[in-house]
Amino acid sequence: MKKFLSLILAGTLALSLAACGGGGNTAEQSTEAAGGGESYIIATDTAFAPFEFTDANNEFVGIDVDLMNAIAEDQGFTVEWRSLGFDAAMAAVESGQADGCIAGASITDKRKETYDFSEAYYDSYVCVAVAENSDIAGFEDLKGQKVAAKTGTMGAECAESLKDQYGYEITYFDQSDMMYQDVVTGNTVACFEDQPVMAYNCQQGNGLKIVADQKDDYSTPYGFVVLKGQNAELLEKFNAGLKSLKDSGKYDEIVAKYTGTN
Ligand code: GLN
Repeated sequence: MKKFLSLILAGTLALSLAACGGGGNTAEQSTEAAGGGESYIIATDTAFAPFEFTDANNEFVGIDVDLMNAIAEDQGFTVEWRSLGFDAAMAAVESGQADGCIAGASITDKRKETYDFSEAYYDSYVCVAVAENSDIAGFEDLKGQKVAAKTGTMGAECAESLKDQYGYEITYFDQSDMMYQDVVTGNTVACFEDQPVMAYNCQQGNGLKIVADQKDDYSTPYGFVVLKGQNAELLEKFNAGLKSLKDSGKYDEIVAKYTGTN
């Protein structure tokens, strides 16, 4: 994946350098887009429905995708998408290979040491799901079992924080869909995931059901992410665009399109 990313970035850089006449050696050097606006490389997750996922028509869609594209249109910039996985997307921002990340990223104090976040755009909290036919009804039933979590996420942090108390082991995954499948198959008996994402996927028939949550300790809204102190301009554009979409009703429209509510 890293090699693949570098290849894409090498291509982008070549274009970027040609457009700017040299200078700079990271993706932070944005290209001038056709309409005269900036073009930003935005990293995201792979399978995190309803925020980003590939739909039945093989199109990459979701609340984050539509939101970012609408904000770009509102603010006059263009987006070059990189669907990398959550941990890789955050790493791409940290290393300067992407200008920003929108991937249902929870705004936390710890992350604020490395990143700047936009205004919050969606509320979320961590929940635990098990196979539909499982007898596991809550944390107490996880003793001596293996559970699944996604690397670098709040779900993983939550799983780690309760590991000793409830006596389970954690298996890590890079992608949510792989994690769900592992629980359906029965290798792990439960997984930790963001509630809005799990609720959506259960409804879509992923074979899981929600049995517990950590609403009090792991409620964190989502924000758009840039590298700390490095991209105030993009962050301002995101916030201004978000406000304008909220004022116009477009934000509600996008959320309703994917969740049926707002
Ligand atoms: N909201 C969670 C976090 O920020 C998970 C994000 C994701 O998996 N895309 O850690």
